[in-house]
Amino acid sequence: MHSQDYDRLYLSPPHLGRHEINYLHKAIEDNWVAPVGPNLDGFEQDVCAFTGVKHALALNSGTAAIHLGLRLLGVGPGDEVLCPSFTFVATANPISYLGATPVFIDSEAETWNMCPERLREALEDMRRRNRRPRALIVVHLYGMPARLREILALAEEFEVPVLEDAAEALGATYEGRPLGSFGAVGVFSFNGNKILTTSGGGMLTTNNADWAAKARAWATQARDEAPYYQHSELGYNYRLSNLLAGIGRGQMGLLDDRVKKRREIYAWYQAKLQDLPGLGFGPTEPAEGRSNRWLTCLLLDPTETTIMPEQLRLHLESHNIESRPLWKPLHLQPLFAGLPMYGGAVCTDLFTRGLCLPSGSALTETDLYRVARAIRELWPT
Ligand SMILES: *Cc1c(COP(=O)(O)O)cnc(C)c1O
Repeated sequence: MHSQDYDRLYLSPPHLGRHEINYLHKAIEDNWVAPVGPNLDGFEQDVCAFTGVKHALALNSGTAAIHLGLRLLGVGPGDEVLCPSFTFVATANPISYLGATPVFIDSEAETWNMCPERLREALEDMRRRNRRPRALIVVHLYGMPARLREILALAEEFEVPVLEDAAEALGATYEGRPLGSFGAVGVFSFNGNKILTTSGGGMLTTNNADWAAKARAWATQARDEAPYYQHSELGYNYRLSNLLAGIGRGQMGLLDDRVKKRREIYAWYQAKLQDLPGLGFGPTEPAEGRSNRWLTCLLLDPTETTIMPEQLRLHLESHNIESRPLWKPLHLQPLFAGLPMYGGAVCTDLFTRGLCLPSGSALTETDLYRVARAIRELWPT
């Protein structure tokens, strides 16, 4: 077989429905081609209705939402912010934007998210040094709920406010409640590869009305109430376009279906490939959590197979199938060299052994068989 024989299978491409075009069409017809308009209001209301959070602010990226959210929590120069090492760099970059420093925490092996034991270690260690972290970012990586009960209890005990990075976790739940609704601030991403997309976009959620108003002002250059352009505070140009919010409205209506499909894809890969020695899947759902299975991740066990993730990735590439290494831990990034890290063995091991497979909700069973067949080729028969 040659790679040209097939269309390329992507990791997680956009999957549009029938209604996005109507919202776009209406916006253009009504000349709402600006970072303000009815689609923005509607998109925010949709996210409030879905998450049960009182206020939502549509922004041009999830990164912008983390930036504004950390500023709401009071993060500033010289502060320390607790953050998992095993995440996308966008989780931690806004800490640096604000002149603060990340303190990295290792994962635990089941959910792959922030380890409550390492977190306690960090909090106690910092307390001994009379340092209180200004904020804690909890991430639900690959849509898998973190151990929220333990983490939120620690945050309360040590009086550290929580920002919930649910960029990958829209539609996932913990104790039956939507992720993104547990932190003082919640963050979603609608980037092109996420479970829902506006091509690029983000959302900040909070139950605090003052914070919502503040973030809204900061997102549009922090203009004072005056007839002329007067500014007392530092602002940004972070608002989402009313056009893209129209795509978001159409997408929100599809969320339940998209979660169902991604979960089916995970279960399909697992059922069809679990007989291969040394090949497993993860992360594992905690009893009280339900993942959206944004990406299906496999793990190779070097005690049972000599096949390495990079070898598998290149093999899939030769079949015109895109796959991707797991997130490289942030404590291993040159950008963050020398920063504090509590633990590290768990996420480093996951990074070494894992690979993300095509997981888009538009994949057909024929596509999935193509991926499974290509993977099987590497295993001795
Ligand atoms: C995608 C992502 C972000 C950032 O969202 P953007 O919309 O791409 O800025 C933040 N955190 C995590 C974990 C993500 O996967």
